[in-house]
Amino acid sequence: MDEFALIRCYFAGLTAARDGVVLGIGDDAALLQTRPGHELVVTTDTLIAGCHFPPETAPADIGWKTLAVNLSDLAAMGAEPRWFTLSLSLPAAEPRWLTGFCSGLKTLAERYGIALVGGDTTRGALSITITALGEVPAGRALRRSGARIGDSICVTGTLGDAAAALVQWSAGAGTSSAGDAEAIWLRQRLDRPEPRLAAGQALRGLAHAAIDLSDGLVGDLQHILDASGVGAEVLTAQLPMSAAFRKQVPEAARLRLQIAGGDDYELCVCMPAQAVDAARTLLDVPLTVIGRITGVGGLRMLGADGATIASEHFAYRHFE
Ligand code: ADP
Ligand code: MG
Repeated sequence: MDEFALIRCYFAGLTAARDGVVLGIGDDAALLQTRPGHELVVTTDTLIAGCHFPPETAPADIGWKTLAVNLSDLAAMGAEPRWFTLSLSLPAAEPRWLTGFCSGLKTLAERYGIALVGGDTTRGALSITITALGEVPAGRALRRSGARIGDSICVTGTLGDAAAALVQWSAGAGTSSAGDAEAIWLRQRLDRPEPRLAAGQALRGLAHAAIDLSDGLVGDLQHILDASGVGAEVLTAQLPMSAAFRKQVPEAARLRLQIAGGDDYELCVCMPAQAVDAARTLLDVPLTVIGRITGVGGLRMLGADGATIASEHFAYRHFE
C-alpha cells in the first residue's frame, strides 16, 4: 500500500464533516474558517514510542493519547477544540496497527467534535505528531501569566495515577493487563487521559491562570509562577489521591509520583479563594485546593508537619 492509498484508506474519512472546514484532506493544505469574534488557539505535541508510552501500548491507546495530550493543551487555554492535523512516521503500513490506532483516535475525536483536516505520512521510527486547533472568544483565553498573590491553587481530578501505572508497568515488564481492578484503572489513567475541556472552558473568567499537568505538578506549577512573577505554597497533604492510587502505592512512594510523576493531564488553576465554590458548581470533575500563591519564595512544598520539602529536582525534562 503506498502513502496515498494509506491516507485514503485510513485517514480521509476518519472524522465526520464539521463546520469551518472549507477544504479538508486532499489538497496541498486545508482551508479553515474561524468564527467571528474568536481567536485561533494552536498547539502541537509529539509522542515517540518508548519515550512517551511503553512500546507495547495498544495502538488504540496510542491514537487516543496523542490526541488527548493536545486536547489537554486546548483545555488549559479554555479553548473549544475544532480541527487537527496528524503527522505520522511509521516503520511499516501494518493494517492491524493502523486500524487500532484509528479507532482510538476516532473515538476521542468524535467525543469532542474535532475534525481531522490534514497531515503527513512518512516511513521511519514510530512517532506521531498532532497539531490541534481550537477557538476561544477573543481576549478570554486562560494563560499562565495571570496568577495573583493570595489566589488559591487548585487541581482537577487526582494526581499520580498515570505515574503509578508506569511504575507498575516497568516492575512487571508489561504484565499490567493481568493485574487487579485498581491496577487496570491506573493503567487506563496512563493510556487514556481525559482532557479537561469542559472544565477549562467553564473556568474562563473565573481563573486568573491555568496550565495542564503533563510533566508533574512541581515543574508545571513553576511555569505559572515564572510567567506570573509570584511564589507559591503547596500543602502536600491536600493533594487529591484516587482510591486506586491509595490502595496500590505504598505511603513512602506517593509524594514523588503525585508531584513529579507526570502524565496527569489534569488542570492546575489559580483563582481567588471566593471563586472556588462557584467554580466547583460549574465543573464536571472534582476541584481541590492544594495551596496558595505568595509574593516571594519560589515554590515551597509543605509536608503535613508544616516543614518544607526539597522539591527542585522533581520536574521531568527532556535533554537533561
Ligand atoms: P503534500 O505532498 O502536498 O504535502 P501529501 O501527499 O503529504 O501532500 O498529502 C496529501 C493530502 O493528504 C494532504 O491534504 C495532507 O494534509 C493529507 N494527509 C497526509 N497524511 C495524512 C494523515 N496522516 N492524516 C490526515 N491527512 C493526511
Ligand atoms: Mg506532505
